[in-house]
Order: sequence, then C-alpha cells, then structure tokens
Amino acid sequence: MKQIIIIGGGAAGFFCASNLDEKKYNITILEQNSDVLQKVKISGGGRCNVTHACFDPRELVQFYPRGNKELLSVFTKFQPGDTMEWFDNRNVPLKIENDNRTFPESNSSQTIINTFLNETQNKNVVVKTKCSVKEIEKQNEKYLIKTNSGDFEADYVVYTTGSSPKSLKIVENLGHKIIDLVPSLFTFNIKDDLLKDLPGTSFENAGISIPKLKTDESGPLLITHWGLSGPAVLKISAWEAISLAKLKYSFEIEVNFISIPMDEAEEIFQDFKQNNPKKSIGQSKVFDITNRFWQKILEISKVDLNKQVANISGKEMQKILENLCKKKFQVTGKSTFKDEFVTAGGIDLKEINFKNMSSKLLSNFYIAGEVLNIDAVTGGFNFQACWSEGWLIAQDLNNL
Ligand SMILES: Cc1cc2nc3c(=O)[nH]c(=O)nc-3n(C[C@H](O)[C@H](O)[C@H](O)COP(=O)(O)OP(=O)(O)OC[C@H]3O[C@@H](n4cnc5c(N)ncnc54)[C@H](O)[C@@H]3O)c2cc1C
Repeated sequence: MKQIIIIGGGAAGFFCASNLDEKKYNITILEQNSDVLQKVKISGGGRCNVTHACFDPRELVQFYPRGNKELLSVFTKFQPGDTMEWFDNRNVPLKIENDNRTFPESNSSQTIINTFLNETQNKNVVVKTKCSVKEIEKQNEKYLIKTNSGDFEADYVVYTTGSSPKSLKIVENLGHKIIDLVPSLFTFNIKDDLLKDLPGTSFENAGISIPKLKTDESGPLLITHWGLSGPAVLKISAWEAISLAKLKYSFEIEVNFISIPMDEAEEIFQDFKQNNPKKSIGQSKVFDITNRFWQKILEISKVDLNKQVANISGKEMQKILENLCKKKFQVTGKSTFKDEFVTAGGIDLKEINFKNMSSKLLSNFYIAGEVLNIDAVTGGFNFQACWSEGWLIAQDLNNL
C-alpha cells in the first residue's frame, strides 16, 4: 500500500486523516509536540468554535481577508453545513449561538479532539509524537522526510504544520514562495481620558475608520483596560494586518460610538432639547449609550453635568457630538485577543491548485491550514478553512 505522511497533527492534518480511505493507504501523522491537536484544545476559550453558521460560500468568503477568492471553489465543495453534518454523523451535535458561532453541544473542545482520535484510531492511522520534521528531500517519485527520530519515506505528503517560521523554511527550501508573516486579529492599545475608568463598556454597533488607510468597519465595540477591542476592531485589524504592520502599529483612528452620522445625531439632539428643556444634561438619555459613558463624554467636552438641556450652547453640542461621532484616538500598539493569535502570510496561494489543495510545484504534495497565506476574522472561520481544505485533499487521494 502507498504511504501518506501528514506533517503536523493539528486541525487540518487530523481532519484530512479522518477522511482518508484506510483500505487504500498507510497513513502516518508526524507531530513535533508530545500532544496532538493542542490548538484545538485551547480554541474558543476551551469550547472550540468549530465553524460559523454561514451556508452561502459567496457570503462565507467575505470573512477571509486573505484567501477569499481562492476559497470560493473550496467552500462550494465542503462548507459549514457539511462540517455540521460530518460531526452529527459521528454523534457530535453542534449548536449555533445567536451570533452564528457554532460550538459542540458539550461546550468542550475535548469532544472534538476525541472525535478525531477515534476516527484516526479506527483507521489505524499511526501518530508519531515528539517527531519534528527537519527537512524534506524529493527523490524521484517519493519524498524522504528527515526528522529528529529517523527518516520516513512517503508516496504522498500532506503539509499541515500551521504557521511556524521553521516549518515554512522547509517548504521554502523545496521551492515555494513565502509571504512574510504578520499578526492578524489584534486589539488596539490607546491611552485616552475618554476610555479611562470605563473598561467593560460596550457599544452594540460602532464605526471605526483609519483615515490614513481610507478604510472603515463597523460592529460591536468594547472598551478594555488597554484601549479598544470587540468585533469592529478585530475585523479592521485582520483586513489591514499588513498595512498596520508597516505603520508599526502607530496610527490614528476615528470612532463613531453610535454609528449615526453627525448631522443625524444633531437632529436627534435638537429634538431632545425641544422636548426636554428642563432636564439636566447629565441625567438625559439622548443616545443609546450607558449613563457612565454619556457623563464621561460630557466631562471631556467640558459641559457641566447639572446644566439644563435648554441651556446647552451650539458650541457645546458640537463638542459633545464630535466626541461621540468623530472621536480621534492615537493607537500606540497592539495586544493579543484572548491569546487567539492568527497570522497573515504563509505559502503563496498562487502556487496552490485549489481544486485539490495540491502544490503546483511539487507532485504528490498537498498543503492545508494556517501554513497557507489564508486567515479569517474571529468566529470559527479559521477552523472551517482547515476542515474544507483537509477534506478536499482526502477526496482527491481517495479518488486516485
Ligand atoms: C488561543 C487560540 C484560540 C483559537 N480559537 C479558534 C476558534 O475557536 N475557532 C477557529 O476557527 N479558530 C481558532 N483559532 C485559530 C485556529 O486554532 C487555527 O487557525 C488552526 O489551529 C490552524 O490549524 P492548522 O492545522 O493549520 O495548524 P495547527 O493547529 O497549528 O497545527 C499544526 C501542527 O503542526 C505541528 N508542527 C509544526 N511544525 C512541525 C514540524 N516541523 N514537524 C512536526 N510537526 C510540526 C505543530 O506542533 C502543530 O501541532 C484559535 C487560535 C488560538 C491561538
């Protein structure tokens, strides 16, 4: 029987192995760590956000700053609905939460790990841990894989090492081009009086723009101890990962905390003023934000909280609205989001055949997962790419 060697015992490698035809192949997974699937274990805060309930491939690819064009054909063959069915068929029901993130009903990543371990055991997949691949040599039709615990010969290689620079070097030595690695999915470090003492304050829908990059995003926003976080920040950090690295994470942003344009917000304010002239401005609920945040806005706008609404001058109103709808902040660095670091960069997508995830440069060599220059925003999309790519490889090999 021909030998498939999967290098990297993570999400992409195990999903591929779990779908291979064991009657056709000897299958071996080589993993450098003493445990496999370590990232799956810690993913989603230990709950594993397996996928995202978005079943239209065209819509789904919009969540991938890098890889969106290439993944369209991949998702037409295996998408989140297929992932849910795959797990359901193995008695692992998944549940969709309000924001469409999808988790195992058990709320435990161990359920996902156990499923992969069962599948691969049933298929007699050999898993060699503490086995670090150092070099791959192409020898006519086969590959010689050199590791710290001996050499392995493979008819087919599936390369799923994640985004470690050392493992990228191995494929670079085989001729693949590597796009520089930069962090994606991070939060913004900001020191500003408006944010001081307000960590935990959230906004249902805020707008963020980066004037220098002529780009904007909207979505929920959260004040943290270090600055700003939440989906709006994470999305813009992922889409602009490369440009923000070039700016060395020092740039200006403009935030609209209520996602209402200045002129509309002014109309709302004027209406309120007319209908509530005697109320004190500090106790007024003009916009849908917390009282503490509203009072902080008044404070930094230098407006007396006890002033009656009727007595707010035009100048004061402008200042309040500017701080609410067009507040400028200087970002001075970045922080990791819940330890969930994802990297942009990796193997150049131009060198991959997305019909089956094979290398265009190396015969019988397949590549999947974070080692590719593909990454997504948070929400289960990064795993979905691993499942879809791993599945495609298995189908291709099973049909040879
Ligand atoms: C804290 C955290 C939480 C996350 N939560 C989520 C989530 O809930 N949902 C989601 O969609 N995404 C999540 N992600 C992203 C997701 O984990 C990754 O996109 C995904 O694990 C990538 O899978 P992979 O198989 O490509 O790589 P990995 O899972 O990184 O697996 C690669 C494996 O290859 C091994 N390896 C590397 N080099 C070698 C070598 N030379 N020889 C042998 N073995 C090697 C590594 O040790 C590793 O085990 C999270 C990431 C982090 C860090």
